[in-house]
Amino acid sequence: MKIHEYQAKEILAQFNVPVQKGIVAHTASEVEAAFTELGEPLAVVKAQVHAGGRGKGGGVKLVKSATEAKEVAERILANALITPQTGPEGVPVKKLLVCPGLDIAKEYYVGLVVDRTLGPVLMASSEGGVEIEEVAAKTPEKILKEPIDPQAGLLPFQGRRLAYKLGFSGKKAEEVCRVMQGIAAAFLKYDGCLMEINPLVETKQGDIIALDAKIEFDDNASFRHSIYAEMRDTTEENEMEIRAAQHQLSYIKLDGNIGCMVNGAGLAMGTMDIIKYAGGEPANFLDVGGGVSRERVTEAFKIVLSDPKVKAVLINIFGGIVRCDVVAQGVVDAVNEIHLNVPLVVRLEGTNVKEGREILDNSGMTIITANGMQEAADKIVAAAAANQKGDS
Ligand code: GDP
Ligand code: MN
Repeated sequence: MKIHEYQAKEILAQFNVPVQKGIVAHTASEVEAAFTELGEPLAVVKAQVHAGGRGKGGGVKLVKSATEAKEVAERILANALITPQTGPEGVPVKKLLVCPGLDIAKEYYVGLVVDRTLGPVLMASSEGGVEIEEVAAKTPEKILKEPIDPQAGLLPFQGRRLAYKLGFSGKKAEEVCRVMQGIAAAFLKYDGCLMEINPLVETKQGDIIALDAKIEFDDNASFRHSIYAEMRDTTEENEMEIRAAQHQLSYIKLDGNIGCMVNGAGLAMGTMDIIKYAGGEPANFLDVGGGVSRERVTEAFKIVLSDPKVKAVLINIFGGIVRCDVVAQGVVDAVNEIHLNVPLVVRLEGTNVKEGREILDNSGMTIITANGMQEAADKIVAAAAANQKGDS
């Protein structure tokens, strides 16, 4: 799960990572008051949304007066914020963070990920602020990496090595080292799976400050961090994903028009791959799981269909622990409750496949049956394309 910048900065502050003072505001007049309260000649007004690239979309603005702060806030709050990470519709802005504006001398990048082979890794670059993806692609040598021992954290020699390579020396290098250690400690303590301080800045006055912060927590660790529930902002999350999570379904919304209902994460990924290979675009990832009940299948199918972009649905089940008849009955129950107005392609195989097929055949639903993955993919791509065309 993602959290807001202001929350990520609260966490960093607990680990003595310097951040600007900040005031969270919900209205333009609160932003105006916040400017006055900060009492600085320059402030920055920042949209708080669960997406990056806000600066590019006009969601981060420097202001020099309370009046200007109010005007900027009105504009940001009134419009959907479109950034390279939001999609073309953009996202509504409900909260703003007001911070003292900094005089930036240089911007650095710091990121943490969990690498499958190395474990937690801290990455740093002197090329902060700009597209880090571009730096990684064109000049990968400019991205420094230090694997972090999950027990010991980032060791002093690693922090110093990073600091020196970033161009710091003497006392400043020691300071940067401590900041890096604090960032790594925050990541480990709260079970982050992704974290970005972009940029970490050195100001003209010589201070090192985390100007931006993004943290993504590992949902699997929610049982040991009450802070996850406290910091969760479900208004920023996809409604269908929340509903799916309440029913223990792994559902991820995607941009295509082919709804997928699959059992097993591996088969779900394989299904998405083969749909793409056949020229289609999946509308979602959905793993209904192993010991799935009829009710859960019904819920899963309803979630898939509730996406207005879906123009056809593919059910791809390989019955192992999950039985094909249970899945079939769940689908029929769902269709009895809500009208099915898109083509349905079904590929069933494995445990109780005969009973499953019978249930579907006797349901009165129009079903396109498929034998094997390739046939299923070809049929669903054709069905979605035909239905999409009929719509537009
Ligand atoms: P993002 O676009 O969502 O990553 O938001 P950031 O918080 O990283 O802000 C985007 C950019 O705005 C930064 O890279 C800075 O160049 C600029 N910026 C943000 N805050 C300040 C500030 O206090 N002073 C100055 N001079 N620039 C700022
Ligand atoms: Mn940033």
